[in-house]
Amino acid sequence: MQILQTAAALQAQTETWRREGQRIGLVPTMGALHEGHLQLVRAAAQECDVVVVSIFVNPTQFNNPEDYRLYPRLPEADAELLGPAGCTALFLPSVEEMYPRPTVLHFDFGSLERVMEGAHRPGHFNGVATVVSKLFHLCRPHRAYFGQKDFQQVAIVRQLVQDLSFDLELVAFPTIREADGLAMSSRNRRLTPEARLVAPALYRALQQAEQLVHQHNTPDAIRIAVAELLGQEPSITLEYFEVADAETLQPVSEWKPNQTIALCLAAQLGGVRLIDNVVVKTV
Ligand code: AMP
Repeated sequence: MQILQTAAALQAQTETWRREGQRIGLVPTMGALHEGHLQLVRAAAQECDVVVVSIFVNPTQFNNPEDYRLYPRLPEADAELLGPAGCTALFLPSVEEMYPRPTVLHFDFGSLERVMEGAHRPGHFNGVATVVSKLFHLCRPHRAYFGQKDFQQVAIVRQLVQDLSFDLELVAFPTIREADGLAMSSRNRRLTPEARLVAPALYRALQQAEQLVHQHNTPDAIRIAVAELLGQEPSITLEYFEVADAETLQPVSEWKPNQTIALCLAAQLGGVRLIDNVVVKTV
């Protein structure tokens, strides 16, 4: 596996591959890799000839400086995991390499970003769209892999690809979980042992909400039930729970038949912010 640290080196390598007719897969990450990331890399290795994994803790997508400072950074350990998973090249740029000058361009995704993560993390999706656009331009992948765990991010990137005519296929990969249901996340490393024991309550609440959808409870009744359920865990502070249309991401007030619904939440647990979601279909 090669390690590329400059934009020019990534561009040169991927251009060579393109000329040779190799199909390029890209897996953008912020590192501190876990099995969820590695499954994305393995899928990319199966479906593409070469796989680029980027590891970049992108400062422009952090609205909370403390979260940025404390974000786990483990490049050496990450590099050891990536080769065996099928990564061909690891792109590991510095902040100065990605942002030689401050960016001025701003993205506005309209109603897609006025809800959930976009509403609670001002500027977050502007940073995501900026860095993802840069990576797409530098790497020009045939396929780009993203996790459904960041459900709204997938919707934003889909819109980005469409609006800016990026010539690539977006792959949305299912959420990989720990045995007790907790969605894998780099931030899980920051949980205390006590908080780690409580954290699966988030997924249990989502499973409960899914049951309530199947039992034809109203969206508002489900919102109340989830707030009550998680309210019983004193160490969990629910930031939001939303019953959203999976396409538009807008809050749902009544069911339509055969509608795909995303049940999404964000919560703080001992100073660590976690998100999760499940997707469910109405009958
Ligand atoms: P991150 O390093 O958290 O920015 O994540 C990099 C990519 O991996 C994103 O597309 C995430 O959605 C995806 N990802 C993170 N955690 C998981 C997971 N538990 N299951 C599947 N994909 C994930």
